[in-house]
Amino acid sequence: MNWVVEQNGRPETIEDWNQKVTPDEIAHKFDECKLDFLDVGHMIRSAREVYLFPLIDHDPLPQWTFDRVTLLGDAAHAMYPRGGNGVCQALVDTRVIAEKLATVSDPVEAMRQYEAERRSIVNRIVVANRGEGPEVVRRIVEERSGGKPFDDIEKILPLAEADAIFKEYHRLAGMKRPDEKPGETSGFRSVFLAER
Ligand SMILES: Cc1cc2nc3c(=O)[nH]c(=O)nc-3n(C[C@H](O)[C@H](O)[C@H](O)COP(=O)(O)OP(=O)(O)OC[C@H]3O[C@@H](n4cnc5c(N)ncnc54)[C@H](O)[C@@H]3O)c2cc1C
Repeated sequence: MNWVVEQNGRPETIEDWNQKVTPDEIAHKFDECKLDFLDVGHMIRSAREVYLFPLIDHDPLPQWTFDRVTLLGDAAHAMYPRGGNGVCQALVDTRVIAEKLATVSDPVEAMRQYEAERRSIVNRIVVANRGEGPEVVRRIVEERSGGKPFDDIEKILPLAEADAIFKEYHRLAGMKRPDEKPGETSGFRSVFLAER
C-alpha cells in the first residue's frame, strides 16, 4: 500500500526528496483520526519506508539567458506541484527552445526569443501555485458540504462551475482549450492569487 499525507505550513527542510523519516514522526499526527474501516496510525506505523517530500518552490527569476547558456524546466521555474504543471511547463520550454533553435540562425538570439516567449507566463504560474491553484475545488467542496458526506456532487459543486475553474487555470498556464471561444473568461482568476 502506498499512502501520502499532506501537511500545510512552511517546511523547515532542505531540497531533497529522498529524506527518510521514521513512521512515528508522521503517525502521531493521526492519533485522533478514527475511521471505522481503517486504523490510520497502524497503517502508517506498518510502513516499510517513509519519505519526506518537501513542497518547495523558487522565487520567479528575472533572467534565464546568459549569452549561450539558458535555463529551462525546474532550473528556470521550480514550482509547487499544484495542477500538475512542473513537467508540463518543462515540456513546453523544450518545444519552444527547439523551435527557436531550428528557425533562428543566431543561437543567442534564439535563446533570447525563447525566454521572451516563456518567462513571464511561467513566472505567473509559479506565483499562482503558491495559492491553492485549481485545487481550490477541494476547499469549495469542504466549505459547502460542511465536511459532511453527500450523495450528489452536482448539488455541491456543479460540473460547469468546476470546469470554469479548470479552464481558467489552463488559460493562466497559456494552454487555451480547443473549445474556448475568443474573449471568454470565467471570472475565476481571483482564486489563483498567491497567498504569500
Ligand atoms: C513531490 C513532487 C510532486 C510533483 N508532481 C508533479 C506532477 O504531478 N506533475 C508535474 O508535471 N510535475 C510534478 N512535479 C514536478 C516535476 O517533478 C518537475 O517539474 C520535473 O521533474 C522537472 O524536470 P527537470 O528535468 O527540469 O528537472 P529534474 O527532474 O530535477 O532533472 C534534473 C536532473 O539533473 C541532474 N543533475 C543535477 N545536477 C547535476 C550535475 N551537476 N551534473 C549532472 N546531472 C545533474 C539531477 O540529478 C536530475 O536528474 C512534482 C515534483 C515534486 C517534488
